Parts: sequence; C-alpha cells; structure tokens
Amino acid sequence: MHRTKVRIVEDALDAHNTIARANREDFDRAGVAVVNLMSSPGAGKTALLERALAGLAEDGLRAGVLEGDVEGSLDSDRLAGLHISVTQLNTGNGFGGECHLDANMVRSALGALPLAELDLLIIENVGNLVCPAEFHVGADARIMVCSVTEGEDKPLNYPLMFRACELVVINKIDLLPHLDYDIDRLEINIDQVNPEATTMRVSARTGEGVDAFREWLIGVPARVRATA
Ligand code: MG
Ligand code: ZN
Repeated sequence: MHRTKVRIVEDALDAHNTIARANREDFDRAGVAVVNLMSSPGAGKTALLERALAGLAEDGLRAGVLEGDVEGSLDSDRLAGLHISVTQLNTGNGFGGECHLDANMVRSALGALPLAELDLLIIENVGNLVCPAEFHVGADARIMVCSVTEGEDKPLNYPLMFRACELVVINKIDLLPHLDYDIDRLEINIDQVNPEATTMRVSARTGEGVDAFREWLIGVPARVRATA
C-alpha cells in the first residue's frame, strides 16, 4: 500500500520533469532564455520587474513576462505600461487554483507567448516559498526575492527555496531604518543553506541596487548561450 503511493508520486514527478524538458527544448529552439522568479507573497516581484525592465527594449533586449497568479491580472496590468510582452497565467483558471506554477501550466501558455520575438522570458511565479521550488518549469535560471519584512530566519525555515536559486534579491532595503532587522544575519543564513548563491540588496521603491539586478538579468541570455 505504502509502496504504491510512493510509486505514484515518483511517476507524477517524472511526468512533470518530462514536460519541463519539453518546455526547455521549445525555449532553446526559439532562442529565448528563461528565468523563474519566485518569492513569498508581497516580497515585491512585480515592483522589482517594473523598475528593472523599464527601458530594456532601448538597450536592445527583448524581454517578456509570463505572470503567474491564482486569480486576476493586477500584476500584469502594472507591467503593461513597460512596452514589453506580458501574458497572464491564472492557476484558478483550470488548474485548481494551485499555489505555484508547474511545467504543465507553463506549457499551456506557450501558444500565447511570442517566443520567437523574445531574448528573455521572466516567469513570475505565484507568491509562495514552498512548492514553486519543487516544480521545474523548464527555466534556465532561478531567482528569488526576499524582503527585509520577512525575518532573517527565512533561509533556515525554507531552505529548499533558497537552495533552488542562484540569485537571491533582498528587497525593501529602504525600510531598514524603520525595522529591527539584521540584514547581515540574513546573508549569513543564506550562505549557510546555499553558499553558491549570489545576493543583492535592492529597493524596488527607491531604485537603489536595481541596476545590478538589471545587469544580471541582461546577462542571462549570454550565459545560457555560453553553456549551450
Ligand atoms: Mg504576481
Ligand atoms: Zn503550490
């Protein structure tokens, strides 16, 4: 009985990974590098993208966003003014209102994405620190946003998410003077669970540090091509 259950879970994960690989092949064929952007709800993913993606087209990088939310299009509406391609994907629309994106959901959106016209696709995942880290969607790079309103112990409580990402963007540093928060302690905790991770301190609100994040994003397509 027990064994059967385990087997089913493994098969389901295999199926997910097969779909993630198919997504990856489609992305590679279209020559688009893909980033999976994750965080807890309210850490500021959309605000960060608003700042970082403004003016990218003038820099010669064609970026698009696949905006994952349970319901609604508030986040994609915010990004619509950036003159980039934004596609809304709601998990409440046929996917049971799931609290993460998986490869199958992303696959269902591929037809709506202008992949051939993009250099970089950012998949803004559903806000959640647990399951988004467990599901591959076919991305080349994984980023998490962690805000200073969340507590320094987050990497220790949610190690899988911090381990899954090569870049951790620490957002809302403009609030530090008002908080009893030890940002160095946060970075020590990140280093403890993922010594390989790059960290950046930013404020999507004031723009401080966002240039470094922008440069990192702009570099993703070249890094993907270099390892292809
Ligand atoms: Mg969102
Ligand atoms: Zn979930």
